[in-house]
Amino acid sequence: MGIFNKLLGRQNPAGGGPPPGFFEVPRPPGDGLCSDDQCPCPENLIPRGTGYVFISQDVVNNRRNARSVAEAQVLADRMQQEMSRRLGVPAVFVASFKNVLTPVLMCEQGARLRGIDLAVAAADAKHWWETGLVPLRATPMARK
Ligand SMILES: [Zn+2]
Repeated sequence: MGIFNKLLGRQNPAGGGPPPGFFEVPRPPGDGLCSDDQCPCPENLIPRGTGYVFISQDVVNNRRNARSVAEAQVLADRMQQEMSRRLGVPAVFVASFKNVLTPVLMCEQGARLRGIDLAVAAADAKHWWETGLVPLRATPMARK
């Protein structure tokens, strides 16, 4: 994602926003669904308060200076427009950058397949359901 360094380097505007060390991720109005595109499940239902959140290092790097939902949206639009300009195609044909700005809520099958630390991922999911906040650090891998 080196071409976006210029965009990502912007400072967080002063005032408000998520507490230090956390970033905001919108919560669904009801239950969730497994949104891991690498998980073979049929989009398992994830009841409110449960599931596993996977935070990649890419997401951490991208959200460091865009910790609120509003800032992440601005950044996603900028990334899409920049890619559209570089490719010379309308923005509507450029893939969304949501997956590099948002952690993934997933079922236990998906979490086990990725080999992430289940206890940490479940605690992060519970905290996110309660507060809408996700810690600004990558999900650790499970101990072998
Ligand atoms: Zn799944």
